[in-house]
Amino acid sequence: MEFEKKMCFMVENQIVRRGIVDEGVIQAMLTVKRHLFVEEAMAESAYGDFPLPIGDGQTISQPYMVAVMTEKLKLGKESRVLEIGTGSGYQTAILAEICERVYSIERIAMLERKARKRLEEMGYTNIAFKIGDGTLGWSEAAPFDGILITAGSPKVPDLLFSQLKEEGRMIIPIGNSFSQTLTVVRKVKGKKVEESFFGCTFVPLIGREGWEED
Ligand code: SAM
Repeated sequence: MEFEKKMCFMVENQIVRRGIVDEGVIQAMLTVKRHLFVEEAMAESAYGDFPLPIGDGQTISQPYMVAVMTEKLKLGKESRVLEIGTGSGYQTAILAEICERVYSIERIAMLERKARKRLEEMGYTNIAFKIGDGTLGWSEAAPFDGILITAGSPKVPDLLFSQLKEEGRMIIPIGNSFSQTLTVVRKVKGKKVEESFFGCTFVPLIGREGWEED
C-alpha cells in the first residue's frame, strides 16, 4: 500500500474510530508523513498501531498516543506549547501544524540534531529547539498554554507546572518506570487540578525533577 493510503487508513482506524474528534489534530495527522520520522528500514511499519525504535533506546510514540495527548491539551492557532522529549520530531511536527509556536527540549543530543534537521528541511519555521534537561523547562519562553511530556515521570515537575499559564494544561504520564497513567494537570487559580485517564508505558523522563539516570 502507498504511504498516503496507509496514513488515511491509520487516521480512520486508529484515531477517528477510537474517538478523537479535534479537527486540528485529525488534519495534522493527515498532513505529517510519519514514515519520514523513522529509519528507512522501518518506513513500511510507520503507520502501524505501535511505537517504533528511533535509536539510543528511545521510541516514536504510537500514533493514537500522539493524537490523544495533543487533543487533551485543547490547543489552537494562537497557542504556544512546550514539548519535553523531541525524540524523532513527529509529535513536534503535529504540534507545529496546530499551534503558533512550539518549544521542544530533548536530552539526547544525537536525537535532537536529527529531529531539528528533519523538521527544518520540511520547512517548519515555528519550532525552537533545545538540548538539555526538559524537567527544568524553558523559563525565557514561559508561560505556555500547554506542556506535553512524552516520557514517564514519578510526579508533576514543579518547575514545569510553574511555567504553565493560568488555565493552561499539561499532559504527562505519571507512575513508576514500567507503567504510568496518562494525566492532565490544569492550573486553576495557581493550583494543580489533576485528571487521570488510562494506563500507558513510556520511556523514563530522566532529569532533576524526573528519574535519575542509571
Ligand atoms: N515525541 C517523540 C516522537 O514523536 O518521536 C517521542 C519521544 S520518546 C517517547 C521520549 C523522549 O524523551 C526520548 O527521546 C528521551 O530521550 C526524551 N527525554 C527523557 N527525559 C528527558 C528530559 N529530562 N528532557 C528532555 N528529553 C527527555
